[in-house]
Amino acid sequence: MTILFASDLDQTLIYSRRSMGLDVSEAELREVERFEGNPQSFMTEKSQQALWELSESAFFLPVTTRTQAQYERVTGIFKDGDAPRFAVVSNGAVILENGQPIKEWSEKLRQQCTSDKTVIEELMPKIEQHFSEDWVLRVRQADNWFVYLIVDRERFPEEKLGEFTKIFREIGWDMSLQGRKLYFMPVSITKAGAMEYVKERVNASFVAAAGDSLLDHCLLESADLGLFAAHGEAVKSSIAISSHIEVTRQSGIRAGEEILERIAKVVLQYK
Ligand SMILES: [Mg+2]
Repeated sequence: MTILFASDLDQTLIYSRRSMGLDVSEAELREVERFEGNPQSFMTEKSQQALWELSESAFFLPVTTRTQAQYERVTGIFKDGDAPRFAVVSNGAVILENGQPIKEWSEKLRQQCTSDKTVIEELMPKIEQHFSEDWVLRVRQADNWFVYLIVDRERFPEEKLGEFTKIFREIGWDMSLQGRKLYFMPVSITKAGAMEYVKERVNASFVAAAGDSLLDHCLLESADLGLFAAHGEAVKSSIAISSHIEVTRQSGIRAGEEILERIAKVVLQYK
């Protein structure tokens, strides 16, 4: 029986110094990503070992909103840097097979976005209309698929997020606030859609999924077992969560450990 472990990376399995929490010692940390010469993301040694072991008995599928280039920096999640056969990047807009994007998949989504008019050229004027405030520090585009703003959280009016979400949803864009990043994602680009494609390709009969943000919600809903990190945007929001989805007891990098421990148990049970 093939078990697919489809997991978000940032603030689910891997953590920046800002997001890891305070109850972890330097000696426990393993660097998993380096950016511009500096260590950027970490796991605890315990998590890293657990993930490496898990990858031997389950099919590990990274499912991230990172672009391909950003994803390729996260080498420490694989034993000896050996990337798995599939990875979902750009929130599901791109599926990598043996490191190469599956063209037909992305072309189909590009057509869908064009016919839905959820393309960046249509979005930008709307963003300029609503977000001219000084708490927008930078505007970034991800390989022409979606947009995120880097915001000043101190000044960001969180009470308006519900209203913004409604406005942008009406024109086909989902929003997600993760740390300092405010994402605008075409509704047709989902982690769940890409996971389903890989599930079929590897003929998996059970899917365990983990995540922390609203962009992970559909992924966990589509799985047989879901795990949400307690510290994440999704748990803190008011969305309805199905009964096959559990929430970790712990937060920060310890939630990552808890997720991997739980998944290892499930894999043992189904093997
Ligand atoms: Mg995340």
